[in-house]
Amino acid sequence: MTDIKELLLSRIRDVSDYPEPGVMFKDITPLLADPAAFTALTDALAEITGRTGATKIVGLEARGFILGAPVAVRAGVGFIPVRKAGKLPGATLRQAYDLEYGSAEIEVHAEDLTGGDRVLVVDDVLATGGTAEASLELIRRAGAQVAGVAVLMELAFLNGRARLEPALDGAPLEAL
Ligand code: AMP
Repeated sequence: MTDIKELLLSRIRDVSDYPEPGVMFKDITPLLADPAAFTALTDALAEITGRTGATKIVGLEARGFILGAPVAVRAGVGFIPVRKAGKLPGATLRQAYDLEYGSAEIEVHAEDLTGGDRVLVVDDVLATGGTAEASLELIRRAGAQVAGVAVLMELAFLNGRARLEPALDGAPLEAL
């Protein structure tokens, strides 16, 4: 394993049965509290931003905001929050997606994404891929291009990568 992977993994806390029984929650707060680890993560995500030619970062509420914002600053690109429905004050595009039980909706300010944008989606954990898939739909509906998806961690046993493949349409999914 590379040094950076070891550093990042060592700063992620596994919390069993949170927020409900049967879920192993990946807590990134120890990583955020460690400046060496947080900087290494930001640098790695900024490198992906440059490599994919992204001109904007979309961060997914809420931990995608914490990771995506410093990456945008470091890479010199804009940051756009994708929020749970009902939190953004302006005109929005809204996308519904299925959860294990029920469904959820996310939104983006319509004017934040334009036809000329290439957008990299950033989040902490890719689980089922439903949230990332819905964000890619929003990006396409806004007329922008998908540069890819970059996450700290992929929970491979949930097969989010396979679910995302059609929406990625050849763009990369990078899991550090
Ligand atoms: P999904 O849409 O199933 O890919 O879920 C992804 C979203 O839920 C991300 O924003 C994650 O922050 C969060 N999430 C899902 N599963 C976990 C987990 N086991 N540990 C931490 N966060 C998770």
